[in-house]
Amino acid sequence: MNRKVHTPYYLIFEDRLRSNGRILHDVEVRSGAKILLAEKAYSIYQTYAIISEYLSGTTSSGLFEAKLAHEEFGREKEIHVFEPAFDSDEMQELCQISDHLYFNSLNQLEYHRGVWLEEKRQREAADRTDLHIALRLNPELSTQEDHAIYDPCAPGSRLGIREVTLREYASKNLEQGQILPAGVDGLHMHTLCEQGFDDLQKTWRAFEEHFADYLRLPQITWVNLGGGHHITREGYDVDGLVKLLRQIHDTYQVQVYLEPGEAVVLNAGELVTRVMDIVDTEVYPVLILDTSAACHMPDVLEMPYTPPLREGIAVDQGREVDSSEDGRYIYRLSSRTCLSGDVIGDYAFDHELKIGDELHFEDMALYTIVKNNTFNGMPLPSIVLEHENNELEILREFSYDNFKARL
Ligand SMILES: *Cc1c(COP(=O)(O)O)cnc(C)c1O
Repeated sequence: MNRKVHTPYYLIFEDRLRSNGRILHDVEVRSGAKILLAEKAYSIYQTYAIISEYLSGTTSSGLFEAKLAHEEFGREKEIHVFEPAFDSDEMQELCQISDHLYFNSLNQLEYHRGVWLEEKRQREAADRTDLHIALRLNPELSTQEDHAIYDPCAPGSRLGIREVTLREYASKNLEQGQILPAGVDGLHMHTLCEQGFDDLQKTWRAFEEHFADYLRLPQITWVNLGGGHHITREGYDVDGLVKLLRQIHDTYQVQVYLEPGEAVVLNAGELVTRVMDIVDTEVYPVLILDTSAACHMPDVLEMPYTPPLREGIAVDQGREVDSSEDGRYIYRLSSRTCLSGDVIGDYAFDHELKIGDELHFEDMALYTIVKNNTFNGMPLPSIVLEHENNELEILREFSYDNFKARL
């Protein structure tokens, strides 16, 4: 491809997808655990063929992501699906294309029992691989201080069944000797977000404290430790992780799963943008970029955080910095929308910027493209893949039609 790509666009790096993939595959091989891509974080299916070389399957958030995995991730790979509540109209199709289904409550499990049980029966009759059924459990241990919005263990959380609920079930069904509902063969937890091994270890201990006797039931043959493991980040204790995964397998005789999203595509993409105008203000000069935090990187406003920029350094929020200090040039990076708070952050550069300059926001493959919107009539950024030989391939370009089709 010779033509210059029009900004804004996401630039995905094949070599980074592969280096992350190798780290994760190595964990699979050494631990015996299986690792799944959480599609919620990254759904650029045009690159699934690369990722599926390293991983065992996907975790989908519902029918659409499951169909995407079914069509694009490779037929021999596993499809796991968790949704806080499943739609009855979708349940049958979901059962047909999934390998593992996760229910968020005993209500949901029973509400859909007729459909999933029928699918299990048919598979057994046809001698096909079973449909596995799990419950999502809540170990009630918060290990995240900074980002309550991403904490499934926060008080009042709707995510995961608490121990007290399972105990109630067991006491009601004591006469039948039923501790867990029939048909359930897996247990699931997901509590972390961008966290290291220590927090997983703490959380696993809490999980055992609450649920060890459920883990020991003969009907339980697999366990999924969710996502949020920052395995591909430099300094992650991969050896500790491998040891814990083996330990879990050996103690409870279960197949262990992990389902990271972020770790699969960490640092695997950039958002390339262009300076459209520079507006003088009484604080810093503001760069109007052809991208938007609200539309193209909503986590910047939701989380919130200031994304790394290849050409400059984020300036601490609230700290007074003289823009002439150290010969640095400080700008507020903002967007083309009409939302006054659509600000990405303040950054220091070692040179003056001018209209037309290109800037690269880093670590933009995850939780961006999947969250894009066309608020304010903003065009969606193109999606470009940089192959290992540095050749660029445009995967997708968007037009007015994409905007109109959603309205
Ligand atoms: C979001 C999510 C994941 C992936 O989380 P990451 O932080 O991207 O690793 C995995 N499992 C479940 C149930 C999730 O909701």
